[in-house]
Amino acid sequence: QNPSLSRLLVVFTVSGGGLVAYSEANSSNSEVKVATPEVVSRKKKVVVLGTGWAATSYLKNLKNSSYDVQVISPRNYFAFTPLLPSVTCGTVEARSIVEPIRNIVHKKNIDIHYWEAECYKIDAENKKVFCRSSKDGIVNGNEEIVVDYDYLVVAMGARANTFNTPGVEENCLFLKEVEDAQKIRRTVIDCFERASLPKLTDAERKKVLQFVVVGGGPTGVEFAAELHDFVSEDLVKLYPKVKDFVKITLLEAGDHILNMFDKRITVFAEEKFQRDGIDLKTGSMVVKVSDSEISTKEIKNGQISSIPYGMVVWSTGIGTRPVIMEFMKQIGQANRRVLATDEWLRVERCDGIYALGDCATINQRKVMEDISAIFSKADKDSSGTLTVKEFQDALDDICERYPQMQLYLKNKQMSSLVDILKESKGDVVKEAVALNIEEFKQALSQVDFQMKNLPATAQVAAQQGAYLANCFNRMEECEKNPEGPLRYRGEGRHKFRPFRYKHFGQFAPLGGEQTAAQLPGDWVSIGHSSQWLWYSVYASKLVSWRTRALVVSDWGRRFIFGRDSSQI
Ligand code: FAD
Repeated sequence: QNPSLSRLLVVFTVSGGGLVAYSEANSSNSEVKVATPEVVSRKKKVVVLGTGWAATSYLKNLKNSSYDVQVISPRNYFAFTPLLPSVTCGTVEARSIVEPIRNIVHKKNIDIHYWEAECYKIDAENKKVFCRSSKDGIVNGNEEIVVDYDYLVVAMGARANTFNTPGVEENCLFLKEVEDAQKIRRTVIDCFERASLPKLTDAERKKVLQFVVVGGGPTGVEFAAELHDFVSEDLVKLYPKVKDFVKITLLEAGDHILNMFDKRITVFAEEKFQRDGIDLKTGSMVVKVSDSEISTKEIKNGQISSIPYGMVVWSTGIGTRPVIMEFMKQIGQANRRVLATDEWLRVERCDGIYALGDCATINQRKVMEDISAIFSKADKDSSGTLTVKEFQDALDDICERYPQMQLYLKNKQMSSLVDILKESKGDVVKEAVALNIEEFKQALSQVDFQMKNLPATAQVAAQQGAYLANCFNRMEECEKNPEGPLRYRGEGRHKFRPFRYKHFGQFAPLGGEQTAAQLPGDWVSIGHSSQWLWYSVYASKLVSWRTRALVVSDWGRRFIFGRDSSQI
């Protein structure tokens, strides 16, 4: 008997489900023994890339057990990033803000499997993702995994953006991951220990204790404030001899820090930093970082100066991950910064691929078309005139559809247009409307850069994750009934309502138990009371009771014993 026939591959095709399962059977004679298939699945395969805010919210909200879900990420835990700045100074311990992804998914009555691996390629045409197993975030390159999917959920977040500034990658610390925060904590203590060694000159001590924070956004500002608290509340008592050499400098290229917040918050923060002795340099752009100095250029006069430093923390926003860049090239989005999706979070020109969180954005071009359509509709309905009310309604409609626009309008940059309409005392003639729409479009194109660079937040990522899970929960029902629920029929676009972002406000902790809060309706509160609001909101938003208990006990420990300055 031909030995090559002794092994027979039996292929089971599952009718209806369209999936195949393979099993090998030994056959010593011509009679075919049909083996039991190892795994036969009729379930649609969903591959989720990432275990961050967007992916975890998606997994937590997924209720439909008709999917076979594979989660792939180099990080086997979810990290509560808003508390990362607190980890840098030991106010909160790193382990208190992370939750193993297996803890999150094992309670669910759904087939969810996690693989610790890093996706390095997405093949949209053949519906496959290519991954390598990873250890401690470093790809070991040995184990390659190819996974096929019916639906792919891309939630890989972003990486720190260096703007290709020379020396940043090599010499600066970042504040993006838990490991980054732990490294900053060790480096701060290390700087104090080095400065305390004998035989150092005053100039050397000054250099070692010069802490530079680059970026006046919420993360940079919060870190500078945390560091100031750590130094003034704890380290000055432990290192009294070197305390006068400590300097914290915050560099910001723009005219102000926290420029995405209300002006009152910006002013308060800048004044507070001045009082605290934090050296705030606005209009100062970093051009180079060597291993001992950071060089800056004054925007106003082009003057270059250098600051010798002990530690630099780079926090200037986010950039695209290489795997996403590659994927964007593949699908004809090479000229974009992040993946473009439609309002249902579907990646444009791809079948069954969704993108959410920091790695994606809703396509601006389409937004513009939709906005024009909304205005035209309002114009038509008003039979020749557009009242302020109709204009406001149209704006509200835009805000509801587009989270980016909501934040943009919240910044009151549209107020001039609204004022023009108000001045016209109610009714606006058709030409004026056309003019205003043109003006509006021009204003939009001018702020296009700003819109693209709006801070990507956990709030958006989590809401997108929950939205997409709800779509998946109802997918089966909608496939049976493709027209969708009655109220959406006739829209002719999609069976689910589009994603709508609800803004719940934002916080900017400023140190010294003071926080600025900007809540919906332009309600601004700054001070100690907002700090308590911050404590309660963040405690309630933590992903599990375990992390909640750990974080609250860390806060209590810090109040009673202060922060720990051990070098571990
Ligand atoms: P992430 O949460 O970054 O998750 C990305 C996931 O993808 C991770 O699990 C990662 O391991 C995984 N991944 C990476 N590469 C791969 C790969 N190749 N293959 C597979 N998986 C991969 N937002 C707020 O709203 N409020 C705040 O107070 C706030 N504070 C912040 C403080 C700091 C210090 C930082 C860094 C961010 C803060 N943010 C805040 C922003 C918020 O964290 C992000 O907007 C949010 O994390 C985005 O969620 P995401 O799911 O898109 O990405």
